[in-house]
Amino acid sequence: MRVGIIGAGLMGMALARKYAADGHTVTVIEHANQPGGLATWSDFGGFDWDRFYHVILPSDQQTIGFLNELGISDELEWNRTYTGFYVDQKLHSISSNAEFLKFPLLSFTSKIRLGFTMLYASRINSWKRLEAITCEQWLRKISGNENVDKLWKPLLLAKLGPSYSRVSAVFIWSYIKRMFSARDKSASAEHLGHVRGGYKSIFNKIEADIKNAGGTIRLNESVMRVSSSDEGVLVHTPKETHVFDHVVCTSPTNVLENIVDRHLLAVGKSAGSVEYLGVVCLVVVTKKPITDFYVVNIADETIPFTGVIGMSSVIDTKNTGGYYLTYLPRYMLSTDTELEKSDGYFRETFLQGLTKMFPDFDASEIVSVHVNRAIKVQPLQVLNYSSMVPSVSTNDDRLHVLNTSQFVNATLNNNEVIGAVNRFYENVGSSFVELASVTSTSNDVTNGIDKVPDKVANG
Ligand SMILES: Cc1cc2nc3c(=O)[nH]c(=O)nc-3n(C[C@H](O)[C@H](O)[C@H](O)COP(=O)(O)OP(=O)(O)OC[C@H]3O[C@@H](n4cnc5c(N)ncnc54)[C@H](O)[C@@H]3O)c2cc1C
Repeated sequence: MRVGIIGAGLMGMALARKYAADGHTVTVIEHANQPGGLATWSDFGGFDWDRFYHVILPSDQQTIGFLNELGISDELEWNRTYTGFYVDQKLHSISSNAEFLKFPLLSFTSKIRLGFTMLYASRINSWKRLEAITCEQWLRKISGNENVDKLWKPLLLAKLGPSYSRVSAVFIWSYIKRMFSARDKSASAEHLGHVRGGYKSIFNKIEADIKNAGGTIRLNESVMRVSSSDEGVLVHTPKETHVFDHVVCTSPTNVLENIVDRHLLAVGKSAGSVEYLGVVCLVVVTKKPITDFYVVNIADETIPFTGVIGMSSVIDTKNTGGYYLTYLPRYMLSTDTELEKSDGYFRETFLQGLTKMFPDFDASEIVSVHVNRAIKVQPLQVLNYSSMVPSVSTNDDRLHVLNTSQFVNATLNNNEVIGAVNRFYENVGSSFVELASVTSTSNDVTNGIDKVPDKVANG
């Protein structure tokens, strides 16, 4: 059967690999000049690494299972990582229980309340009621004002930018659940992982599996329109019109609304418009490390970026030409005009901020600086977000939608992506063969909504 997949991000590529392995004739169509989507890589001057920082958590069982399937799990390396906190122009390490107990900015009572918050959040399963309250309101109730002002607010700013104040408590609940699973229980120490060679290695292996099974990946080809006929689902690009028996779209719902013929896609009315977060991320390549922390959360509004990610504390510099990689992200709404400012602007202001935070850092150690940005990273999970996500269904059983826009109770991460691919394949994938025989012998096309979960919720 001819299967078309729109988008060569992790969702599209992992799914394409499954169909190719099952003997279908798979074609992935990708607008960019290389696969990977948000998890793609860049040339940082003599070596390639992830364009945006990515790590794997010990609890990312779907991702780890996928690496096993790919036969590259022995390329997975784990490292003990450290968390820093920048406040009042000082850096503090809060990487172990002992350090946390010594952390000077919080009273003993606040520390106890913080420990309770972690435990409490990690035990909550019914996330729905958390949608009605903001992160900040919920944290003030559970953790207390001191923890919120000194610890949670900087962390939320680092993750979401100034829009954090409108985000529901589901975000912080899913974040605590995910991050706390990165701690080794015996040592209470955080461990994070990566695959040698970064996501490029993962995508190279997926690509090889797809091609070895007879599949095709078409790059530099934007899908402009999706229509249908008796012959199949038609995917129109400036290069040609492809005809498939089944098509799975992995691009965001608002992209699909522009490219899929109106009568084929039923996008439900949302209670309000879904806003997206974008990110600008400066990547600084240096001869010496800037920090030994994996992440430094920043409680200082004069610093223009929202966190410091010391990637070389997780990955060996053997991966990066002997150089050190530091990512400086700043999250903001995708409609924020600041996202459009020049590379020069971000280079200059972010490097000034870096020098302020690390006065001993010698700028002559910088080898190169790169500005990367993504306009639509993830939807802003505001109050009652799950009721705002427009439901998506298709009016043709041969057209399917699987994308991260539908995640309602999880942070955006690849473990969720692989989980969604596996669930989709179990629920819908196996019926492709039967559907093909139905569609080739009759025109009795029924609505695919009963087979495709339109909102993906875990737990
Ligand atoms: C700064 C940052 C840090 C992150 N850190 C982590 C981390 O540490 N751990 C983790 O697990 N995850 C992390 N993530 C999340 C991870 O990158 C995403 O979960 C994952 O990349 C989503 O994959 P996707 O395939 O669903 O979407 P995407 O990667 O967005 O892929 C969609 C693809 O569709 C293509 N496309 C769209 N429209 C069209 C069209 N009309 N025609 C053809 N092609 C089209 C796009 O070009 C793109 O390649 C991070 C993301 C960011 C931005």
